Amino acid sequence: MTLKILTIVGARPQFIKAAAVSRAIRETDGLTEVMVHTGQHFDPNMSDVFFEELDIPRPRHHLDINGGGHGDMTGRMLMAIEPILLEEKPDWVVVYGDTNSTLAGALAASKLHIPVAHVEAGLRSFNRRMPEEINRVVTDHLSALQLCPTTTAVTNLAAEGVTAGVHHVGDVMYDATLFVTDKAEKSSAILSNLGLAPKTYALATIHRAENTADRQQLLAVVQFLQDQSRKFPVALPLHPRTRQAALAMGVSLGGLRVIDPVGYLDMAKLLHNAVEVYTDSGGVQKEAYFHRVPCITLRDETEWTETITHGWNRLWKQPAQAVRRDIDEYGTGRAAYDVARLLISGSSPGI
Ligand code: UDP
Repeated sequence: MTLKILTIVGARPQFIKAAAVSRAIRETDGLTEVMVHTGQHFDPNMSDVFFEELDIPRPRHHLDINGGGHGDMTGRMLMAIEPILLEEKPDWVVVYGDTNSTLAGALAASKLHIPVAHVEAGLRSFNRRMPEEINRVVTDHLSALQLCPTTTAVTNLAAEGVTAGVHHVGDVMYDATLFVTDKAEKSSAILSNLGLAPKTYALATIHRAENTADRQQLLAVVQFLQDQSRKFPVALPLHPRTRQAALAMGVSLGGLRVIDPVGYLDMAKLLHNAVEVYTDSGGVQKEAYFHRVPCITLRDETEWTETITHGWNRLWKQPAQAVRRDIDEYGTGRAAYDVARLLISGSSPGI
């Protein structure tokens, strides 16, 4: 018997996580995959480049849904996903992370009694003002299989009474990093294109609503980066949301090495060779650690608390908490294969 997995992705970090799991699904007997792209991220350098570089199967369904408020976007996704689920009749719907695409996929599937597997389950910032936190909490409570990247995520779920179907598998993003690092070192020309030598620059990303929706906050974050840029150049691959916000609010990015968003190979090369990383991204905080580069997180809390307790990361307004040591939680680069295995074994009646 072959189980049909329907994967729903829509945003950049989901393409990267899905690349690792999709590869594991292809290499696991008894699983076949259909991919749905909601269209939440659509610029070629926010979407197509990852499909090409990471060898992700072309989506069978492309919904082309983006823009609008949260309710508008999520509602349109729900309406578009439901008929696809009815047509495809998958055994599992797999969703990733914490975006509107995640929530819409989980909601549409669970209403049709299709079991949902949530990759990157159990993360909490405990800040319900973040749209991502709402998406995560609801998705976790709707999912039959909770695939947790850390033991803290397992504990967070237990505190909410969610214990059935919970597994600590490690972080599929670590799998993705291992997959590209050597290739990126050899093939990416991003450093020479930017005229940057290894270990002479810092890398920054900013994209969260909490940093881009309010002018004072965006100014404060940009000022922090500009201060850091007195020590070394700060390369800033600029998320479209941040570009629009800076333009609309008249926030100057002067003094920073602003570039367009880069593909995953260029990003791995930039991360691997940076002196420091400054970011409000969940993924980039961990990737900094995977490349053993210290990180400062441009937020007042983080879901990836082990990066702080193990000394690789600190919140921008707080001092470092610990001496640097390795983090075991994220696994050995085979998390995606555990996900595939659990999709097979978790499919027995009773989930
Ligand atoms: N990323 C990338 N190119 C860029 C900026 C980020 O490939 O120009 C990658 C980054 O390495 C990480 C992922 O995108 O794997 C993070 O996505 P994002 O910061 O948008 O989302 P989050 O991780 O906060 O959910």
